Amino acid sequence: MCGALQPLTNTTFYPEGWMFKIKNYINGKLIPPASGNYLTHVNPATGELENELPASDSRDVQLAVEAGERAFPEWSSLTPEKRHSILMRIADHIERDSDSFAKAESVDTGKPLTLAKRVDVPRAAANFRFFAAASLHFSSESHEMAGRAINYTLRHPLGIAGCISPWNLPLYLLTWKIAPALATGNCIIAKPSEITPMTAYMLSGVCINSGLPEGVLNIIHGTGGATGNAIVLHPSVKAISFTGSSATGARIAAAAAPLFKKLSLEMGGKNPVIIFADCSYDEMLEKTIESSFQNQGQICLCGSRILVEKKIYNKFKKDFVARIESLVPGDPLSERTRIGAVVSHRHFEKILSYIDLAKKEGGKIICGGKQKILSGRCRNGWFIEPTLIEGVSRNCRTNQEEIFGPVVTISPFSGEEEAVQMANGTPYGLAAMIWTQNLSRAHILASKIQAGIIWINTWMLRDLRTPFGGMKNSGLGREGGMEALRFFTEPKNVCVNYNG
Ligand code: NAD
Repeated sequence: MCGALQPLTNTTFYPEGWMFKIKNYINGKLIPPASGNYLTHVNPATGELENELPASDSRDVQLAVEAGERAFPEWSSLTPEKRHSILMRIADHIERDSDSFAKAESVDTGKPLTLAKRVDVPRAAANFRFFAAASLHFSSESHEMAGRAINYTLRHPLGIAGCISPWNLPLYLLTWKIAPALATGNCIIAKPSEITPMTAYMLSGVCINSGLPEGVLNIIHGTGGATGNAIVLHPSVKAISFTGSSATGARIAAAAAPLFKKLSLEMGGKNPVIIFADCSYDEMLEKTIESSFQNQGQICLCGSRILVEKKIYNKFKKDFVARIESLVPGDPLSERTRIGAVVSHRHFEKILSYIDLAKKEGGKIICGGKQKILSGRCRNGWFIEPTLIEGVSRNCRTNQEEIFGPVVTISPFSGEEEAVQMANGTPYGLAAMIWTQNLSRAHILASKIQAGIIWINTWMLRDLRTPFGGMKNSGLGREGGMEALRFFTEPKNVCVNYNG
Protein backbone atom coordinates (compact mmCIF):
# COMPACT_ATOMS: atom_id res chain seq x y z
CA MET A 1 0.00 0.00 0.00
CA CYS A 2 2.75 2.48 0.88
CA GLY A 3 5.09 3.18 -2.01
CA ALA A 4 8.61 4.52 -1.58
CA LEU A 5 8.90 8.11 -0.48
CA GLN A 6 9.29 10.20 -3.60
CA PRO A 7 10.11 13.90 -3.68
CA LEU A 8 7.60 16.08 -5.47
CA THR A 9 8.90 18.37 -8.14
CA ASN A 10 7.87 21.87 -9.04
CA THR A 11 7.10 20.84 -12.58
CA THR A 12 4.55 18.28 -11.40
CA PHE A 13 2.77 20.10 -8.64
CA TYR A 14 3.70 23.74 -8.72
CA PRO A 15 4.14 24.73 -12.32
CA GLU A 16 5.16 28.36 -12.52
CA GLY A 17 5.01 30.66 -15.48
CA TRP A 18 1.85 29.58 -17.27
CA MET A 19 -1.81 29.39 -16.48
CA PHE A 20 -2.29 26.09 -14.75
CA LYS A 21 -5.53 24.14 -14.35
CA ILE A 22 -5.91 22.69 -10.86
CA LYS A 23 -7.83 19.41 -10.70
CA ASN A 24 -10.10 17.71 -8.23
CA TYR A 25 -8.74 14.71 -6.29
CA ILE A 26 -11.43 12.05 -6.40
CA ASN A 27 -11.02 8.31 -5.93
CA GLY A 28 -7.23 8.67 -5.83
CA LYS A 29 -7.02 10.48 -9.18
CA LEU A 30 -6.64 14.06 -10.34
CA ILE A 31 -9.63 14.77 -12.57
CA PRO A 32 -11.39 17.79 -14.13
CA PRO A 33 -14.78 18.97 -12.83
CA ALA A 34 -17.97 17.44 -14.26
CA SER A 35 -19.10 20.86 -15.52
CA GLY A 36 -15.85 21.47 -17.42
CA ASN A 37 -15.98 24.98 -15.94
CA TYR A 38 -13.17 26.71 -14.06
CA LEU A 39 -12.82 29.66 -11.70
CA THR A 40 -9.79 31.94 -11.89
CA HIS A 41 -7.33 32.63 -9.13
CA VAL A 42 -5.46 35.92 -8.97
CA ASN A 43 -2.15 36.48 -7.19
CA PRO A 44 -2.97 39.17 -4.60
CA ALA A 45 0.56 40.57 -4.57
CA THR A 46 0.66 41.20 -8.34
CA GLY A 47 -2.97 41.31 -9.42
CA GLU A 48 -2.11 38.79 -12.15
CA LEU A 49 -3.99 35.63 -13.05
CA GLU A 50 -2.22 32.70 -11.44
CA ASN A 51 -4.22 29.57 -12.15
CA GLU A 52 -7.66 28.13 -12.74
CA LEU A 53 -9.53 25.84 -10.41
CA PRO A 54 -12.51 23.55 -10.89
CA ALA A 55 -15.98 25.03 -10.52
CA SER A 56 -17.29 21.81 -9.02
CA ASP A 57 -20.91 21.04 -8.30
CA SER A 58 -23.09 18.31 -6.84
CA ARG A 59 -21.99 15.84 -9.55
CA ASP A 60 -18.38 16.01 -8.37
CA VAL A 61 -19.53 15.71 -4.76
CA GLN A 62 -21.59 12.63 -5.70
CA LEU A 63 -18.55 10.99 -7.36
CA ALA A 64 -16.47 11.72 -4.27
CA VAL A 65 -19.11 10.34 -1.91
CA GLU A 66 -19.31 7.13 -3.95
CA ALA A 67 -15.52 6.81 -3.81
CA GLY A 68 -15.58 7.41 -0.05
CA GLU A 69 -18.30 4.81 0.44
CA ARG A 70 -16.26 2.22 -1.45
CA ALA A 71 -13.10 3.03 0.53
CA PHE A 72 -14.67 3.23 3.99
CA PRO A 73 -15.01 -0.47 4.92
CA GLU A 74 -11.31 -1.20 4.38
CA TRP A 75 -9.94 2.11 5.67
CA SER A 76 -12.03 2.04 8.85
CA SER A 77 -10.98 -1.53 9.62
CA LEU A 78 -7.23 -0.97 9.20
CA THR A 79 -5.33 -1.10 12.46
CA PRO A 80 -4.55 2.35 13.93
CA GLU A 81 -0.86 1.52 13.43
CA LYS A 82 -1.34 1.14 9.67
CA ARG A 83 -3.24 4.41 9.39
CA HIS A 84 -0.56 6.01 11.58
CA SER A 85 2.22 5.00 9.19
CA ILE A 86 0.41 6.45 6.14
CA LEU A 87 -0.28 9.75 7.91
CA MET A 88 3.36 9.98 9.03
CA ARG A 89 4.40 9.42 5.43
CA ILE A 90 2.14 12.30 4.32
CA ALA A 91 3.88 14.51 6.91
CA ASP A 92 7.28 13.40 5.57
CA HIS A 93 6.27 14.35 2.05
CA ILE A 94 5.01 17.78 3.10
CA GLU A 95 8.29 18.42 4.90
CA ARG A 96 10.36 17.14 2.03
CA ASP A 97 8.59 19.53 -0.36
CA SER A 98 8.20 22.34 2.16
CA ASP A 99 9.83 25.02 -0.01
CA SER A 100 7.36 24.46 -2.84
CA PHE A 101 4.45 24.37 -0.41
CA ALA A 102 5.58 27.59 1.27
CA LYS A 103 6.01 29.38 -2.04
CA ALA A 104 2.59 28.26 -3.28
CA GLU A 105 0.99 29.39 -0.01
CA SER A 106 2.64 32.79 -0.25
CA VAL A 107 1.66 33.25 -3.92
CA ASP A 108 -1.96 32.21 -3.25
CA THR A 109 -2.54 34.27 -0.11
CA GLY A 110 -0.13 37.22 -0.34
CA LYS A 111 1.40 36.27 3.03
CA PRO A 112 5.16 36.67 3.50
CA LEU A 113 7.07 33.64 2.28
CA THR A 114 9.05 33.63 5.53
CA LEU A 115 5.80 33.27 7.50
CA ALA A 116 4.58 30.40 5.32
CA LYS A 117 7.96 28.68 5.82
CA ARG A 118 8.05 29.27 9.56
CA VAL A 119 4.39 28.65 10.45
CA ASP A 120 2.00 27.34 7.80
CA VAL A 121 3.93 24.45 6.30
CA PRO A 122 5.60 23.08 9.47
CA ARG A 123 2.24 23.21 11.20
CA ALA A 124 0.54 21.26 8.37
CA ALA A 125 3.11 18.48 8.76
CA ALA A 126 2.76 18.67 12.56
CA ASN A 127 -1.02 18.25 12.27
CA PHE A 128 -0.56 14.89 10.53
CA ARG A 129 2.11 13.72 12.97
CA PHE A 130 0.13 14.85 16.01
CA PHE A 131 -3.15 13.14 15.08
CA ALA A 132 -1.39 10.04 13.75
CA ALA A 133 0.19 9.63 17.19
CA ALA A 134 -2.89 10.75 19.13
CA SER A 135 -5.04 8.08 17.50
CA LEU A 136 -2.70 5.40 18.89
CA HIS A 137 -3.43 6.69 22.40
CA PHE A 138 -7.16 7.25 21.93
CA SER A 139 -9.11 5.30 24.53
CA SER A 140 -12.73 5.13 25.50
CA GLU A 141 -14.48 5.07 28.87
CA SER A 142 -15.96 2.32 30.98
CA HIS A 143 -18.39 2.73 33.88
CA GLU A 144 -18.91 -0.06 36.34
CA MET A 145 -22.21 -0.43 38.27
CA ALA A 146 -20.83 -2.17 41.35
CA GLY A 147 -21.67 -5.85 41.38
CA ARG A 148 -24.30 -5.50 38.63
CA ALA A 149 -22.89 -4.53 35.27
CA ILE A 150 -20.15 -2.91 33.26
CA ASN A 151 -20.73 -0.26 30.63
CA TYR A 152 -18.09 0.36 28.04
CA THR A 153 -18.05 2.88 25.20
CA LEU A 154 -17.15 2.00 21.65
CA ARG A 155 -16.01 4.84 19.42
CA HIS A 156 -16.41 4.11 15.74
CA PRO A 157 -15.65 6.39 12.78
CA LEU A 158 -18.66 8.26 11.41
CA GLY A 159 -18.29 7.26 7.76
CA ILE A 160 -17.89 10.21 5.42
CA ALA A 161 -17.01 13.59 6.92
CA GLY A 162 -17.12 16.97 5.15
CA CYS A 163 -14.22 19.34 5.89
CA ILE A 164 -14.63 22.94 4.72
CA SER A 165 -11.83 25.44 5.29
CA PRO A 166 -11.04 29.15 4.77
CA TRP A 167 -8.31 31.09 2.93
CA ASN A 168 -6.29 32.64 5.72
CA LEU A 169 -4.23 29.57 6.73
CA PRO A 170 -5.12 27.30 3.82
CA LEU A 171 -2.98 24.18 4.30
CA TYR A 172 -2.64 24.60 8.07
CA LEU A 173 -6.40 24.62 8.69
CA LEU A 174 -7.35 22.05 6.05
CA THR A 175 -4.91 19.53 7.52
CA TRP A 176 -6.08 20.39 11.07
CA LYS A 177 -9.42 18.83 10.04
CA ILE A 178 -8.29 16.14 7.63
CA ALA A 179 -5.69 14.59 9.93
CA PRO A 180 -7.98 13.70 12.89
CA ALA A 181 -10.76 12.55 10.55
CA LEU A 182 -8.38 10.20 8.72
CA ALA A 183 -6.66 9.02 11.90
CA THR A 184 -9.99 7.86 13.34
CA GLY A 185 -10.85 5.89 10.18
CA ASN A 186 -13.22 8.23 8.35
CA CYS A 187 -13.30 8.99 4.64
CA ILE A 188 -13.42 12.65 3.69
CA ILE A 189 -14.85 15.11 1.21
CA ALA A 190 -12.75 18.25 1.70
CA LYS A 191 -13.28 21.66 0.20
CA PRO A 192 -10.54 24.26 0.48
CA SER A 193 -11.33 27.93 -0.06
CA GLU A 194 -11.77 28.82 -3.72
CA ILE A 195 -9.58 31.86 -3.00
CA THR A 196 -6.50 29.79 -2.11
CA PRO A 197 -6.65 26.37 -3.81
CA MET A 198 -3.03 25.56 -4.66
CA THR A 199 -1.63 23.89 -1.54
CA ALA A 200 -4.73 21.68 -1.23
CA TYR A 201 -4.09 20.58 -4.80
CA MET A 202 -0.46 19.89 -3.92
CA LEU A 203 -1.65 17.88 -0.92
CA SER A 204 -3.60 15.68 -3.37
CA GLY A 205 -0.27 14.84 -5.01
CA VAL A 206 1.30 14.12 -1.64
CA CYS A 207 -1.52 11.72 -0.75
CA ILE A 208 -1.12 9.86 -4.04
CA ASN A 209 2.64 9.57 -3.44
CA SER A 210 2.14 8.53 0.18
CA GLY A 211 0.00 5.51 -0.60
CA LEU A 212 -3.26 6.80 0.83
CA PRO A 213 -5.82 4.35 -0.58
CA GLU A 214 -8.14 5.59 -3.33
CA GLY A 215 -11.29 7.35 -2.19
CA VAL A 216 -10.22 7.83 1.44
CA LEU A 217 -9.60 11.55 0.96
CA ASN A 218 -11.31 13.48 -1.82
CA ILE A 219 -10.52 17.17 -2.35
CA ILE A 220 -13.03 19.11 -4.39
CA HIS A 221 -12.54 22.71 -5.48
CA GLY A 222 -15.24 25.30 -6.04
CA THR A 223 -17.36 27.98 -4.48
CA GLY A 224 -19.14 27.79 -1.15
CA GLY A 225 -22.57 28.18 -2.74
CA ALA A 226 -22.14 25.38 -5.30
CA THR A 227 -19.54 22.95 -3.93
CA GLY A 228 -19.64 23.61 -0.17
CA ASN A 229 -23.41 23.59 -0.05
CA ALA A 230 -23.56 20.32 -2.02
CA ILE A 231 -21.25 18.71 0.58
CA VAL A 232 -23.37 20.02 3.46
CA LEU A 233 -26.62 18.78 1.89
CA HIS A 234 -25.41 15.35 0.81
CA PRO A 235 -27.21 12.75 2.98
CA SER A 236 -24.19 10.42 3.11
CA VAL A 237 -21.93 13.10 4.62
CA LYS A 238 -22.48 12.47 8.33
CA ALA A 239 -20.58 15.39 9.85
CA ILE A 240 -19.36 18.82 8.80
CA SER A 241 -16.22 20.34 10.24
CA PHE A 242 -16.20 23.97 9.13
CA THR A 243 -13.87 26.91 9.66
CA GLY A 244 -14.81 30.30 8.26
CA SER A 245 -16.97 33.31 8.93
CA SER A 246 -19.85 33.34 11.40
CA ALA A 247 -22.27 34.27 8.58
CA THR A 248 -21.35 31.14 6.61
CA GLY A 249 -21.39 29.06 9.79
CA ALA A 250 -24.98 30.17 10.40
CA ARG A 251 -25.95 29.17 6.85
CA ILE A 252 -24.32 25.76 7.24
CA ALA A 253 -25.98 25.21 10.62
CA ALA A 254 -29.39 26.05 9.13
CA ALA A 255 -28.88 23.69 6.19
CA ALA A 256 -27.45 20.83 8.27
CA ALA A 257 -29.89 20.94 11.20
CA PRO A 258 -32.85 19.19 9.50
CA LEU A 259 -30.46 16.47 8.33
CA PHE A 260 -29.23 15.94 11.94
CA LYS A 261 -25.56 16.20 10.99
CA LYS A 262 -22.82 16.46 13.55
CA LEU A 263 -21.35 19.97 13.34
CA SER A 264 -18.13 21.62 14.39
CA LEU A 265 -18.06 25.33 13.56
CA GLU A 266 -14.94 27.48 14.04
CA MET A 267 -15.88 31.04 13.17
CA GLY A 268 -14.98 34.71 13.42
CA GLY A 269 -13.64 36.81 16.27
CA LYS A 270 -13.16 40.35 17.56
CA ASN A 271 -10.49 39.52 20.07
CA PRO A 272 -9.49 41.89 22.89
CA VAL A 273 -5.91 42.51 23.99
CA ILE A 274 -5.99 43.75 27.61
CA ILE A 275 -2.83 45.57 28.65
CA PHE A 276 -2.24 46.48 32.29
CA ALA A 277 0.38 49.00 33.41
CA ASP A 278 2.29 46.31 35.33
CA CYS A 279 2.95 44.10 32.30
CA SER A 280 6.37 43.11 31.06
CA TYR A 281 6.34 46.06 28.68
CA ASP A 282 8.86 45.28 25.94
CA GLU A 283 7.66 41.72 25.51
CA MET A 284 4.05 42.92 25.42
CA LEU A 285 4.87 45.53 22.76
CA GLU A 286 6.63 43.01 20.52
CA LYS A 287 3.85 40.40 20.80
CA THR A 288 1.08 42.97 20.37
CA ILE A 289 2.62 44.01 17.06
CA GLU A 290 2.51 40.33 16.04
CA SER A 291 -0.98 39.69 17.37
CA SER A 292 -2.27 42.75 15.50
CA PHE A 293 -0.55 42.43 12.13
CA GLN A 294 0.76 38.91 11.54
CA ASN A 295 -0.58 37.59 8.23
CA GLN A 296 -1.88 41.16 7.62
CA GLY A 297 -4.23 40.73 10.61
CA GLN A 298 -5.97 37.88 8.80
CA ILE A 299 -5.76 35.30 11.58
CA CYS A 300 -8.93 34.52 13.50
CA LEU A 301 -6.85 34.74 16.71
CA CYS A 302 -5.40 38.20 16.02
CA GLY A 303 -6.20 40.85 18.60
CA SER A 304 -8.27 43.59 16.97
CA ARG A 305 -9.38 45.65 19.99
CA ILE A 306 -6.46 46.83 22.09
CA LEU A 307 -7.57 47.90 25.57
CA VAL A 308 -4.90 49.75 27.55
CA GLU A 309 -4.94 50.76 31.21
CA LYS A 310 -5.22 54.56 31.37
CA LYS A 311 -1.93 54.99 33.28
CA ILE A 312 0.14 53.83 30.31
CA TYR A 313 -2.22 54.68 27.44
CA ASN A 314 -0.23 57.58 25.99
CA LYS A 315 3.12 55.86 26.35
CA PHE A 316 1.81 52.68 24.73
CA LYS A 317 0.23 54.62 21.88
CA LYS A 318 3.49 56.45 21.11
CA ASP A 319 5.64 53.29 21.25
CA PHE A 320 3.12 51.21 19.33
CA VAL A 321 2.85 53.78 16.53
CA ALA A 322 6.65 53.92 16.24
CA ARG A 323 6.73 50.13 15.85
CA ILE A 324 3.85 50.12 13.35
CA GLU A 325 5.56 52.74 11.20
CA SER A 326 8.52 50.43 10.77
CA LEU A 327 6.22 47.75 9.30
CA VAL A 328 6.14 48.59 5.63
CA PRO A 329 4.19 46.24 3.35
CA GLY A 330 6.42 44.63 0.74
CA ASP A 331 6.77 41.86 -1.85
CA PRO A 332 5.70 38.68 -0.02
CA LEU A 333 8.49 36.72 -1.70
CA SER A 334 11.21 38.98 -0.28
CA GLU A 335 13.01 37.60 2.77
CA ARG A 336 12.75 41.02 4.45
CA THR A 337 8.98 41.40 4.19
CA ARG A 338 6.90 41.11 7.36
CA ILE A 339 3.62 42.49 5.95
CA GLY A 340 2.38 41.17 2.61
CA ALA A 341 -0.74 41.67 0.51
CA VAL A 342 -4.30 41.06 1.70
CA VAL A 343 -5.88 38.03 0.13
CA SER A 344 -8.14 39.38 -2.63
CA HIS A 345 -9.41 42.53 -4.26
CA ARG A 346 -12.81 42.01 -2.66
CA HIS A 347 -11.27 41.67 0.80
CA PHE A 348 -9.02 44.69 0.15
CA GLU A 349 -12.13 46.79 -0.59
CA LYS A 350 -13.89 45.44 2.48
CA ILE A 351 -10.99 46.42 4.76
CA LEU A 352 -10.72 49.92 3.26
CA SER A 353 -14.49 50.36 3.63
CA TYR A 354 -14.15 49.59 7.36
CA ILE A 355 -11.45 52.27 7.67
CA ASP A 356 -13.88 54.73 6.04
CA LEU A 357 -16.62 53.56 8.38
CA ALA A 358 -14.36 54.12 11.39
CA LYS A 359 -13.84 57.75 10.29
CA LYS A 360 -17.59 58.22 9.94
CA GLU A 361 -18.04 56.76 13.42
CA GLY A 362 -15.75 59.44 14.86
CA GLY A 363 -12.52 57.45 14.77
CA LYS A 364 -9.14 59.09 14.34
CA ILE A 365 -6.63 57.28 12.15
CA ILE A 366 -3.44 57.42 14.22
CA CYS A 367 -1.33 55.74 11.58
CA GLY A 368 -1.79 53.89 8.30
CA GLY A 369 -5.32 53.94 6.93
CA LYS A 370 -4.56 53.75 3.21
CA GLN A 371 -3.63 51.49 0.36
CA LYS A 372 0.13 51.06 0.02
CA ILE A 373 1.26 51.21 -3.59
CA LEU A 374 4.43 49.26 -4.33
CA SER A 375 6.64 49.50 -7.37
CA GLY A 376 7.89 46.79 -9.75
CA ARG A 377 6.39 43.31 -9.71
CA CYS A 378 3.87 44.21 -6.98
CA ARG A 379 2.69 47.55 -8.40
CA ASN A 380 -0.87 46.20 -8.94
CA GLY A 381 -1.05 44.22 -5.68
CA TRP A 382 -3.48 44.74 -2.81
CA PHE A 383 -1.46 46.12 0.07
CA ILE A 384 -2.84 48.07 3.03
CA GLU A 385 -0.79 50.03 5.55
CA PRO A 386 -1.00 48.66 9.11
CA THR A 387 -3.63 50.90 10.69
CA LEU A 388 -4.34 52.09 14.22
CA ILE A 389 -7.66 53.78 15.03
CA GLU A 390 -8.54 55.69 18.18
CA GLY A 391 -11.69 57.28 19.52
CA VAL A 392 -14.38 54.85 18.36
CA SER A 393 -17.07 53.94 20.88
CA ARG A 394 -17.17 50.39 22.17
CA ASN A 395 -20.55 49.69 20.58
CA CYS A 396 -19.92 51.09 17.11
CA ARG A 397 -19.57 48.75 14.14
CA THR A 398 -15.81 49.28 13.93
CA ASN A 399 -15.49 47.79 17.42
CA GLN A 400 -18.19 45.16 17.00
CA GLU A 401 -17.67 43.62 13.55
CA GLU A 402 -14.80 41.48 12.34
CA ILE A 403 -12.61 43.43 9.89
CA PHE A 404 -10.00 40.67 9.44
CA GLY A 405 -7.24 42.91 8.14
CA PRO A 406 -4.27 44.98 9.36
CA VAL A 407 -6.55 47.30 11.33
CA VAL A 408 -6.79 47.59 15.11
CA THR A 409 -8.53 49.97 17.48
CA ILE A 410 -7.12 51.28 20.74
CA SER A 411 -9.16 52.33 23.80
CA PRO A 412 -8.31 53.18 27.42
CA PHE A 413 -9.81 51.45 30.46
CA SER A 414 -9.64 51.97 34.22
CA GLY A 415 -9.61 48.90 36.38
CA GLU A 416 -10.35 45.24 35.94
CA GLU A 417 -14.10 45.52 35.93
CA GLU A 418 -14.18 47.90 33.00
CA ALA A 419 -11.63 45.78 31.13
CA VAL A 420 -13.84 42.69 31.49
CA GLN A 421 -16.95 44.59 30.38
CA MET A 422 -15.19 45.91 27.32
CA ALA A 423 -13.63 42.54 26.49
CA ASN A 424 -16.99 40.79 26.71
CA GLY A 425 -18.91 43.50 24.88
CA THR A 426 -19.19 41.91 21.42
CA PRO A 427 -21.14 38.94 20.05
CA TYR A 428 -17.84 37.07 19.55
CA GLY A 429 -15.82 34.97 21.98
CA LEU A 430 -12.85 33.36 20.28
CA ALA A 431 -9.62 34.51 21.98
CA ALA A 432 -8.40 37.11 24.48
CA MET A 433 -4.92 38.22 25.48
CA ILE A 434 -4.13 39.53 28.99
CA TRP A 435 -0.85 41.32 29.77
CA THR A 436 -0.05 41.73 33.46
CA GLN A 437 2.55 40.59 35.99
CA ASN A 438 -0.18 40.22 38.63
CA LEU A 439 -0.97 36.56 38.17
CA SER A 440 -3.90 36.37 40.54
CA ARG A 441 -5.54 39.18 38.55
CA ALA A 442 -4.74 37.32 35.34
CA HIS A 443 -6.41 34.12 36.60
CA ILE A 444 -9.51 35.99 37.77
CA LEU A 445 -9.85 37.76 34.41
CA ALA A 446 -9.26 34.53 32.51
CA SER A 447 -12.24 32.97 34.23
CA LYS A 448 -14.48 36.02 33.64
CA ILE A 449 -13.69 36.66 29.99
CA GLN A 450 -16.02 35.03 27.51
CA ALA A 451 -13.57 33.44 25.08
CA GLY A 452 -12.58 29.89 24.24
CA ILE A 453 -8.85 30.68 24.29
CA ILE A 454 -7.10 32.96 26.78
CA TRP A 455 -3.44 33.81 26.43
CA ILE A 456 -1.75 35.35 29.47
CA ASN A 457 1.47 37.22 28.65
CA THR A 458 1.76 35.56 25.24
CA TRP A 459 0.00 35.05 21.91
CA MET A 460 -0.31 32.09 19.54
CA LEU A 461 1.51 29.72 21.85
CA ARG A 462 -0.25 26.55 20.73
CA ASP A 463 -0.22 23.09 22.26
CA LEU A 464 -2.12 20.82 19.88
CA ARG A 465 -3.49 18.76 22.80
CA THR A 466 -5.63 21.65 24.11
CA PRO A 467 -9.28 22.26 23.20
CA PHE A 468 -9.43 24.84 20.41
CA GLY A 469 -12.45 26.97 19.54
CA GLY A 470 -14.70 29.84 20.48
CA MET A 471 -17.74 30.75 22.56
CA LYS A 472 -20.79 32.82 21.54
CA ASN A 473 -20.84 33.59 17.78
CA SER A 474 -17.26 32.37 17.38
CA GLY A 475 -17.80 28.66 17.64
CA LEU A 476 -19.75 25.52 18.20
CA GLY A 477 -17.78 22.57 19.56
CA ARG A 478 -14.02 22.33 19.90
CA GLU A 479 -11.17 21.07 17.76
CA GLY A 480 -7.74 19.92 18.92
CA GLY A 481 -6.43 16.96 20.86
CA MET A 482 -8.94 14.36 21.97
CA GLU A 483 -11.83 16.76 21.23
CA ALA A 484 -11.18 16.30 17.52
CA LEU A 485 -10.91 12.53 17.80
CA ARG A 486 -14.19 12.48 19.71
CA PHE A 487 -15.87 14.69 17.11
CA PHE A 488 -14.96 12.34 14.28
CA THR A 489 -16.21 9.24 16.13
CA GLU A 490 -19.65 8.04 17.23
CA PRO A 491 -19.84 6.84 20.84
CA LYS A 492 -21.88 3.72 21.49
CA ASN A 493 -22.53 2.47 25.02
CA VAL A 494 -22.56 -1.28 25.64
CA CYS A 495 -24.01 -2.45 28.97
CA VAL A 496 -23.16 -5.99 30.11
CA ASN A 497 -25.16 -7.50 32.97
CA TYR A 498 -22.83 -9.45 35.30
CA ASN A 499 -25.69 -11.70 36.31
CA GLY A 500 -27.15 -12.44 32.88
P1 NAD B 1 -16.06 32.01 4.51
O1 NAD B 1 -17.07 31.71 5.54
O2 NAD B 1 -16.40 32.98 3.44
O3 NAD B 1 -15.61 30.67 3.74
C1 NAD B 1 -15.07 29.57 4.43
C2 NAD B 1 -15.29 28.32 3.60
O4 NAD B 1 -16.69 28.04 3.53
C3 NAD B 1 -14.81 28.45 2.15
O5 NAD B 1 -14.27 27.22 1.72
C4 NAD B 1 -16.11 28.74 1.41
O6 NAD B 1 -16.08 28.38 0.05
C5 NAD B 1 -17.08 27.88 2.18
N1 NAD B 1 -18.49 28.27 2.07
C6 NAD B 1 -19.00 29.50 1.84
N2 NAD B 1 -20.36 29.44 1.79
C7 NAD B 1 -20.70 28.14 2.02
C8 NAD B 1 -21.94 27.44 2.11
N3 NAD B 1 -23.11 28.07 1.97
N4 NAD B 1 -21.92 26.12 2.37
C9 NAD B 1 -20.75 25.47 2.55
N5 NAD B 1 -19.54 26.07 2.45
C10 NAD B 1 -19.51 27.39 2.21
O7 NAD B 1 -14.76 32.46 5.31
P2 NAD B 1 -13.41 33.01 4.71
O8 NAD B 1 -13.64 34.40 4.23
O9 NAD B 1 -12.85 31.99 3.77
O10 NAD B 1 -12.46 33.01 6.00
C11 NAD B 1 -12.38 34.08 6.89
C12 NAD B 1 -13.20 33.80 8.13
O11 NAD B 1 -12.78 32.59 8.73
C13 NAD B 1 -13.06 34.86 9.19
O12 NAD B 1 -14.33 35.15 9.72
C14 NAD B 1 -12.18 34.20 10.24
O13 NAD B 1 -12.34 34.69 11.55
C15 NAD B 1 -12.64 32.79 10.14
N6 NAD B 1 -11.66 31.88 10.69
C16 NAD B 1 -11.93 31.26 11.88
C17 NAD B 1 -11.01 30.41 12.45
C18 NAD B 1 -11.28 29.72 13.76
O14 NAD B 1 -10.57 28.78 14.09
N7 NAD B 1 -12.28 30.13 14.52
C19 NAD B 1 -9.80 30.16 11.79
C20 NAD B 1 -9.56 30.81 10.58
C21 NAD B 1 -10.49 31.66 10.03
